Amino acid sequence: MAEFTMELNDEQREVRDWLHGFAADVIRPAAAEWDEREETPWPVIQEAAKVGIYSLDFYAQQYFDPTGLGIPMAMEELFWGDAGIALSIVGTGLAAVGVLANGTEEQIGTWIPQMYGDQNDVKVAAFCSSEPDAGSDVAAMRTRAVYDEAKDEWVINGTKTWATNGGIANVHVVVASVDAELGSKGHASFIVPPGTQGLAQGQKFKKHGIRASHTAEVILDNVRVPGSCLLGGKEKLDERLARAREKARAGGERVKNAAMATFEASRPAVGAMAVGTARAAYEVALDYARTREQFGRPIIDNQGVAFQLADMRTQIDAARLLVWRASWMAVSGKPFTAAEGSMSKLFASETAKKVTAQAVQILGGNGYTREYPVERMHRDSAIYTIFEGTSEIQRLVIARTLSGLPIR
Ligand SMILES: Cc1cc2nc3c(=O)[nH]c(=O)nc-3n(C[C@H](O)[C@H](O)[C@H](O)COP(=O)(O)OP(=O)(O)OC[C@H]3O[C@@H](n4cnc5c(N)ncnc54)[C@H](O)[C@@H]3O)c2cc1C
Repeated sequence: MAEFTMELNDEQREVRDWLHGFAADVIRPAAAEWDEREETPWPVIQEAAKVGIYSLDFYAQQYFDPTGLGIPMAMEELFWGDAGIALSIVGTGLAAVGVLANGTEEQIGTWIPQMYGDQNDVKVAAFCSSEPDAGSDVAAMRTRAVYDEAKDEWVINGTKTWATNGGIANVHVVVASVDAELGSKGHASFIVPPGTQGLAQGQKFKKHGIRASHTAEVILDNVRVPGSCLLGGKEKLDERLARAREKARAGGERVKNAAMATFEASRPAVGAMAVGTARAAYEVALDYARTREQFGRPIIDNQGVAFQLADMRTQIDAARLLVWRASWMAVSGKPFTAAEGSMSKLFASETAKKVTAQAVQILGGNGYTREYPVERMHRDSAIYTIFEGTSEIQRLVIARTLSGLPIR
């Protein structure tokens, strides 16, 4: 029988310590500056490229870790350093995974290297799905891609919003509807190559947190891309659309299992980011509570403070366990019968919001200032319950999975 262990192996410990060193020595010291500047921290991304953290090879290695813990471990350490900078470093990975998951070998080989650039000329990539009227309701997407058979080109029109690295990316991955009647089953993903005419950055958002990460609208005005930019190719798309139309005719049974499994497998990674931020704030609060004295003793001597720290740590550890369980399930092909991936994202993101708020409270007035990092961590943590599916949407997915009913 296989031995049960929750201990990291030597290789995983080595990678974790290496990432922690980078987060502590390079990311954390730069965090306050780039948060104030609200700009992409190019020098830090370049530094990450030099040591091999900003590269497809690195993500592929973590992605294919047979225990499933490679990605959550990496996310936790980088986001422990700083959420805004870490998102600038891993944001390209989100677009790259879109190509890895749906692209042909040729597309992977052509486009992913251009997403990263090289250590002397780093580039970023963007994944553009959300729209002003299609956030949680992805099926409401209005961006259309129409095939121009004579030229073997796709013509894309629409407005994307909230795109991480949108407009500054070398390569944009754009999701568009090719058959509006099929809702989300009629969506396809396209590569928009560097310098393509008609793609422009719209508004750049000024945000509450993760301010070092660039978030913007992307306008697509008669953007023409070659047929080879359709991820997976036309033949595969035509087959998929034919199957979806057939199902729709046969009574609307939804082909949801594959898509759901993908989300369940990717959501724990966001949970791990939240664990990183929560752990960072908890550590600052613990240190502070040990050294800050009031009434002639360290504030941690009061149960009112010590119990808060006990709860914070308990919830962080519970969140990590849920994230690790879901990641292990994904890699070992276990069915997500209770939407365990969504559970992990829901619990970890809500934990990060709660724990960072408690950290601000434990630091008192200092916690409320930018002299201490917990104020930034608290602002940063609010993103986790919003992107990659809000907490309400996670609850909806879990409730539907448990009940088998179309809960709304
Ligand atoms: C900083 C940042 C970076 C992002 N990066 C990207 C990116 O790189 N690429 C990309 O494509 N998108 C990105 N997003 C978009 C993100 O995924 C969406 O913001 C998110 O899916 C929510 O959509 P929305 O903002 O339109 O909110 P809405 O869908 O309008 O939701 C508003 C509120 O209503 C609730 N709600 C909606 N429907 C229901 C329901 N059925 N039941 C109960 N409650 C409901 C929601 O939970 C939420 O509280 C990013 C967003 C931000 C803020």
